[in-house]
Amino acid sequence: MSDRDGKIWKDGQLIDWRDASIHILTHSLHYGMAVFEGVRAYKTDQGTAIFRLREHTERLFNSAKIFQMNIPFHQEAIAQAQLKVVRENQLESCYLRPLVWIGDEKLGISAKGNTIHVAVAAWPWGAYLGEDGLNKGIRVKTSSFSRHHVNVSLVRAKASGYYINSILANQEALADGYDEALLLDTDGYVSEGSGENVFIVKKGKLYTPDLASCLDGITRDSVLTIARDLGIEVIEKRITRDEVYCADEAFFTGTAAEVTPVRELDNRAIGEGKRGAITEKLQTVFFDAVAGRAPQYSHWLTII
Ligand code: PMP
Repeated sequence: MSDRDGKIWKDGQLIDWRDASIHILTHSLHYGMAVFEGVRAYKTDQGTAIFRLREHTERLFNSAKIFQMNIPFHQEAIAQAQLKVVRENQLESCYLRPLVWIGDEKLGISAKGNTIHVAVAAWPWGAYLGEDGLNKGIRVKTSSFSRHHVNVSLVRAKASGYYINSILANQEALADGYDEALLLDTDGYVSEGSGENVFIVKKGKLYTPDLASCLDGITRDSVLTIARDLGIEVIEKRITRDEVYCADEAFFTGTAAEVTPVRELDNRAIGEGKRGAITEKLQTVFFDAVAGRAPQYSHWLTII
């Protein structure tokens, strides 16, 4: 991805894509302590708009706060940087990756005194789990790897090192011929996908795990809001894997994954083994919201 044209915002300046490099002794590269965001911008009638820019930027700063990384910019400057990157690269729709990392002054567990850096890159990125996945649903495998325990990792943060756990789960699922993994928490309850929150539908009601072990997903929040506005009852609670087997519908949410139906878990078809009616409804309103076709959600969009 490094050898291409374009601009990346790094520590306050737009620089050439190819020049956006770091030293091999960068602290975050060795110990995994970096925090990041995944954000999307969509084409709307009024121009390209970043979806829930404020919330993503706030989560980035909260992630940094949890690890006592002092970002040397105000939130507004990082929000503006994201808008600038989309504008300068003339992207109609894209994925954005803001990243905060610890510099290369010294190595060792303690990062005290090391500098904190910020970059924002953006590039076109289609459906994360495939167009087919969006329409027909994906096949998922319960992972043999547990999701983070609240006292091992602090899951309100979106931290680079946490994704080792995601990669293990995703590798295992793909190697076994599935599209994605579903991770359970350390007590054995459903937590989330390797990069997605999970929902099930049962008898017209929408259920999703509480936030004890999963990321407080911004798409999760958008879908909960949309569901409530549609008059669908939503319940956040502990969910077991057999509740998912016996659900009428299931789906994943995430900035990259958007709203992706899950048609199968561990070789058991969920409901009719295809995208369910409530999933489709929520997906439709979600895609209307991101594309500026749903006026009630226009406050979620920041036009670049
Ligand atoms: N869980 C994990 C582990 C993730 O990486 C993501 C993607 N950021 C999500 C859930 C979904 O979060 P969001 O909707 O904010 O992208």
